[in-house]
Amino acid sequence: MREGACPKCGSADIVPNRPIRDLGHGNSVHELTTRVEERPDALIFKGETVESYLRAWVCGECGYTELYATDHRYLFDLYTRAQTP
Ligand SMILES: [Zn+2]
Repeated sequence: MREGACPKCGSADIVPNRPIRDLGHGNSVHELTTRVEERPDALIFKGETVESYLRAWVCGECGYTELYATDHRYLFDLYTRAQTP
């Protein structure tokens, strides 16, 4: 959908690249992110961490929405390094 029509209804009416707001503590506004940690099971020392914002592409016809990470290459790079013993 980022490169073409909606995969659900076929519409070309796409709202691209929108930030996704989330309310945090005290109703503070944050943008939604995803992350990869080098040692996700560690309680404190999780090692290297990569965090990436998520952006939404929304179909203006049916509302179908796809999310994309802005820093996907850095996420995947740390993910693959963290899997290697
Ligand atoms: Zn659609």
